[in-house]
Amino acid sequence: MRKRMIVSAVSAALLLLANPASAASATPGDPGIGDPYYPTYGNGGYDVSHYDLRLKYQPATDQLEGTATILATATQNLSRFNLDFALDVSEVLVNGRKAAFAATGEQELEVTPAAPLAKGAQATVVVRYSGIPSKVVRYGFTAWLRTPDGGVAAGEPESAWWWFPSNDHPADKATFDVSVLVPDGTQAISNGVLVSQSSKLGWTRYNWRENKPQATYLATIAIGKFDVSTETTAGGLPVVNAYSKDLGDNDGAARASVQRTGEIVDWLSTLFGPYPFSAVGGYVPNVRTGYALETQTRVFYSPRQFAGGSNTSVVVHELAHQWYGDSVSLERWSDIWLNEGFARYAQWLWSEHENEGTAQELADYVYAVHPADDAFWTVKPGDPGPDNQFDLAVYDRGALAVQALRNAVGDEKFFEILKAWPTEHRYGNATLAQFQDLAERISGQKLGDLLQVWLLTAAKPANPTTAPAAGLAAAATAPVHEPRSWKQIQATNSLHEHHVG
Ligand SMILES: [Zn+2]
Repeated sequence: MRKRMIVSAVSAALLLLANPASAASATPGDPGIGDPYYPTYGNGGYDVSHYDLRLKYQPATDQLEGTATILATATQNLSRFNLDFALDVSEVLVNGRKAAFAATGEQELEVTPAAPLAKGAQATVVVRYSGIPSKVVRYGFTAWLRTPDGGVAAGEPESAWWWFPSNDHPADKATFDVSVLVPDGTQAISNGVLVSQSSKLGWTRYNWRENKPQATYLATIAIGKFDVSTETTAGGLPVVNAYSKDLGDNDGAARASVQRTGEIVDWLSTLFGPYPFSAVGGYVPNVRTGYALETQTRVFYSPRQFAGGSNTSVVVHELAHQWYGDSVSLERWSDIWLNEGFARYAQWLWSEHENEGTAQELADYVYAVHPADDAFWTVKPGDPGPDNQFDLAVYDRGALAVQALRNAVGDEKFFEILKAWPTEHRYGNATLAQFQDLAERISGQKLGDLLQVWLLTAAKPANPTTAPAAGLAAAATAPVHEPRSWKQIQATNSLHEHHVG
């Protein structure tokens, strides 16, 4: 008996030392993070702080090999957890020990560590993998865009599965190191700052670092033959832009737009407060798709955005997202208005800045061109549903809602709100309810009814949003002209076209 007690005491001491979760209390993490729009996206049971991706890519064959090292903390006693991933996995290690793994569903990788993880424990997860991402189809598509000289990962709400395993939901943000080995003469572009670059035996390694929290869908990679331009803004911010050498007739217009990144960031900073990241820029690969995406610090633009000539409005939209969407990320995809309503509204403010029509004129025009029976009004920007998440109404009606807010609270309070939101929630996640709280606190007004009418009602609001001075009668009788910026803004409407090839 005495001997047994001693053994127990020793076991207890070992338990305390190693702090493992008892097998009895540990349970599997949820295969989704709990987003009603996308029940299988993201995962439960842990929180990632950093992704270290070490990749090798062959442009000729689209072969990608990688080792992902993921630093995570268990948020429950965890017997098993999922990653979201679609390429072939050859080995998984958790805290240095081989883990069992299985691919299930469309993009779930179930990992069973050799020993359960205790709540609060740090875990280092290593995943070795390979595949040809352009050939991997999930839910009927691939977000990996093959180009004549390489490939690109850029897609919303999902693109990570085709190049790294992750907790794929904006509610779990992390810092990133992305290291890519490519044949000499080919460039690899990713987020943040190029920390180093070196060549050996015909291969070049590019080491990119994003040192601020980043949502997984905002991580991007582009491999191909690029002209890379590096500048510094007056404020000292590095600007790195990259253009495929193969943009043909769109080359000049792409450069004439994207090279204005630094100037536009400076202008947006006057509206939204200091730029939140360590670098900025954009890249234009030779893809055939038509959309653009606010990938963090390094915006993805399709050449087709510039097929009609230069378009600074799309640059404004994607850079506005660096504050509204990237630094302050949504907690659930239903709150997409916090991203798109404000990025579209930034385009309206740019139009005003360029003397091509005021935001009020654009709001009046949107209100006028959609009759009450237009399906446009059936989409609620404040909760559009997964099928309408990137519907035009989320953008245009979403921006109308911002104009309605501006008219309700007045310019002084409105511009205070525009700055306070990205300041108070910098690098975090936030919800529509939190936005309402902040706007009510700053304005001293109750805004529930206004947000209900403009964001959450499937019908055309009875009255247009008029500037307080103009009055309803004036708005009703004034002829509504198409603002000069209208067509340029419309040309950006394929912005978040949903993974169409
Ligand atoms: Zn957008």
